[in-house]
Amino acid sequence: MNGNGKKAIEQLQRIKETRDIIPGIHNYCDRWCERCALTAHCSVFAIGEEEDRIRKENNEPEQELVEYVGTMLHDAMDLLSDLAREHGIEFDENDDEEFDFKKPTKTNYLVRKADEHSKWLFKWFVSNNRKIDEILATLEESSISDFKILTDAIEVLKWYIHFIAVKFSRALMSPIDNSPEGRSDNNGSAKIAIIAVNRSIEAMAVLLRYIPKQEDVLLEGLVRLERIKKRALKDFPEAMSFKRPGFDD
Ligand code: SF4
Repeated sequence: MNGNGKKAIEQLQRIKETRDIIPGIHNYCDRWCERCALTAHCSVFAIGEEEDRIRKENNEPEQELVEYVGTMLHDAMDLLSDLAREHGIEFDENDDEEFDFKKPTKTNYLVRKADEHSKWLFKWFVSNNRKIDEILATLEESSISDFKILTDAIEVLKWYIHFIAVKFSRALMSPIDNSPEGRSDNNGSAKIAIIAVNRSIEAMAVLLRYIPKQEDVLLEGLVRLERIKKRALKDFPEAMSFKRPGFDD
């Protein structure tokens, strides 16, 4: 039996027993743990914390959380495979092909526009970096609250820069079946993508207020986001009534 896999299962078990974990809370969050009010209920966060503690105790170099969780899940799959074989169950790695999940292509409107948004915004930040720093420096001198508002808006836009396209891609995968339960992952993914679009719209409006000279170009971005939101609400009419574990309870 795989030692790492066993360790991973034990670690998850210990976390479930010692913490007030909300199952599935990490599936439809925005992965912004620094700003999350529900870290105490999240197994992904707990794994990261525990790994960090063990790493510090052993003086080991820092490992990316995503990389660590990926390794751990891989180990857990190995363990399941071992257990299946021990019980005479065939564990065929290609079994999931029968679910016929279709990867959405970039020709889908939402994915295409969200991708356009991220490329456009990335370029805009690169070409306006110095200007933004100057404005922030001036605000820091004149008004700390304005400085914080603009800093926050920039952080929000940067955080969601790729997130929106990724979540719409997931939302567009074929549902498990055509029942409300079968569509729940699609709706949950669409909901968090729409929330991210909304926050980006608000942040873009803040940028417009503080950088009026960029009005034309920022308005173009704002209009694109509004169109994405409108289309997403049309394509996923059930999304906003989806209850995200922990966040919408
Ligand atoms: S639920 Fe909160 S703590 Fe957990 S992964 Fe999401 S943002 Fe991070």
